Amino acid sequence: MPNVAANTGNDLNAAYQIDAFQDVSGLILESWGPSARNADYNEALDVIIERLQSRSLDEIGVNVISRDLVDQFPNFTERAILLDSSSSVSLLGREPREIRLEIGRAQARLKIDTSKSGGNRTKRILLHSTLLTPSDWNVVASPAASSSPLLPAVPAGIQSPKSSTQMTVVIERDSNVRAWILRTAAGICELCGQPAPFLDAIGVPFLEVHHVIPLASSGPDTTTNAVALCPNCHRDLHYGAERIMKLKNLYEQIPRLSRAISQN
Ligand SMILES: [Zn+2]
Ligand SMILES: [Zn+2]
Repeated sequence: MPNVAANTGNDLNAAYQIDAFQDVSGLILESWGPSARNADYNEALDVIIERLQSRSLDEIGVNVISRDLVDQFPNFTERAILLDSSSSVSLLGREPREIRLEIGRAQARLKIDTSKSGGNRTKRILLHSTLLTPSDWNVVASPAASSSPLLPAVPAGIQSPKSSTQMTVVIERDSNVRAWILRTAAGICELCGQPAPFLDAIGVPFLEVHHVIPLASSGPDTTTNAVALCPNCHRDLHYGAERIMKLKNLYEQIPRLSRAISQN
């Protein structure tokens, strides 16, 4: 069985396996046993929690799967570590050590002989999350040994984006040109020839008017420089790998188009 790697890259004395237990797959951390077996259990759980936090995972499921407890409590959910009155362990806002101690305390409460005080806080546990694949768990346990990168960290984003005013150049457009283009297209995209993918709010087939030579590049706002496109074709013509070829097709397919640039 492999060992969890410390942040230094060295192996800890803490065996793990990536496996499914009762149909739930995840990382199984072996229990702390006699003769210093898996003596670095605590440190291993700390680095695992730290790595999950660094990937912005909010919570994980933790279930005790020691054999004696599985015999006693066959139902998977009976052996779940329940913190914060939810079915999972929150990873937010606390140090890994704090979270590990809480898991340990919850484990200690799950014991067969309730007359004995104390309880083993270092049992065999299954850590699981629907957001992580087995290869993700391998990276969590041993980052250097794994070839596949873990899920990219989720960016924090901006809670309340500030607004700012920018100067924009507004180019005058003739609304009659737009209307003429759309009416002539009659709901059929002039590039792919397919009907508009949906109706707009007033029940008109949705197409967008695209200027073949952009207005910003001195293209004229005339029917000889505008086409009606479905949203896919429109984005494709702006950003697609084959946009140059498709533009050529457009000129060949639509006789009214002219390559002339306005002179003024
Ligand atoms: Zn189209
Ligand atoms: Zn466009």
